[in-house]
Amino acid sequence: MEYYSKHINRLIEQLAHLPGIGAKSAQRLAFHIMNMSQEQVNQLTGAIVGAKENVRYCKCCYTLTDQEICPICANANRDHQTIMVVENTRDLAAYEKTGKFDGVYHVLHGAISPMLGIGPDDIRLKELIQRLQGDVKEVIIATNSSLEGETTAMYISKLIKPTGIKVSRIASGVPVGGDLEYIDEVTLLRALEGRVEL
Ligand code: ZN
Repeated sequence: MEYYSKHINRLIEQLAHLPGIGAKSAQRLAFHIMNMSQEQVNQLTGAIVGAKENVRYCKCCYTLTDQEICPICANANRDHQTIMVVENTRDLAAYEKTGKFDGVYHVLHGAISPMLGIGPDDIRLKELIQRLQGDVKEVIIATNSSLEGETTAMYISKLIKPTGIKVSRIASGVPVGGDLEYIDEVTLLRALEGRVEL
């Protein structure tokens, strides 16, 4: 592809590495960036570098945060005896948006997938088991209802059961049309309220 300058080609190539960005979108974005002012470009690159340099894993729940301990773990008003296990920080954010869960979280950063060669040691599972040495009453497993999510849920419940700590699994709900964002929250809440003990 020698139609463009090699700098533009390089930009297109980098953008095309991003998830959900195909060759066409990468081209469109590259030309959009070329039309942006220098200041806008600096803001964009600054945001990328700043996020990468300053965001870290919470020492307690492993969510992505700016501090050593995230605001949720640092909040004394939350119920620290109830831990909801999620696959990633986006799932945590979805539950936080409902405003109805007052416990704390544990972010696995993935799910067990024998197909993809992702085992229990590849996600933050050891860290969860370590947390259970503390004062914990219930672990709510809120991994996705995918094969990987279910496999992970089963694996975790087997690990926790012998400790006597209550383990539950959120119910899975199916959103039916309408305003997805709104329904998503309702579904999440129903799933949480309808959780079943494992
Ligand atoms: Zn945290």
